[in-house]
Amino acid sequence: MAAKRKRQPGLPSNDGVVRGYRWLATLDRSTCIGCAVRDGLSYDLDLEPVGHALPWGRGPGRRHAKCRCTMTPVLDDEFAKYMRGAWRPAVANGRAEQVPAETTYSQWFQRQSEAFQSEYLGPMRFSLLRKHNLDLIDLVDDAGRPLSYANLLQRFSPQS
Ligand SMILES: [Zn+2]
Repeated sequence: MAAKRKRQPGLPSNDGVVRGYRWLATLDRSTCIGCAVRDGLSYDLDLEPVGHALPWGRGPGRRHAKCRCTMTPVLDDEFAKYMRGAWRPAVANGRAEQVPAETTYSQWFQRQSEAFQSEYLGPMRFSLLRKHNLDLIDLVDDAGRPLSYANLLQRFSPQS
């Protein structure tokens, strides 16, 4: 057992029931890329990434000014089975809908219209995304920070 956990105040930590935390961003166009790529990612009780490499940092709701992210506890399997079939809200083009709770921002984003995607990313990032068939995660660095357009060009179109 870790003696010193880097717990964030206010997080539930009911050992045996809560196994960790899942980052929840808002499914709409105001969510920044840095938060969007963290949506749905899990962290253990020590706030270490589970199955991915993006750091918790200051955590949901504190990543940046006006961060609207929150988190949901990752429950032990025994308790998680009661949570299946949940839904989460999403808003695109002024229309609200409910999508299955396990839908991540990236998955949701890929289903949005070209107009939405282009407006969200800006035309230059959008064309890069299209041209190279990228995912949102390709637009951030190892710490989950958005890459500059110059960096993206270097990475994906070194010749142009
Ligand atoms: Zn956020």
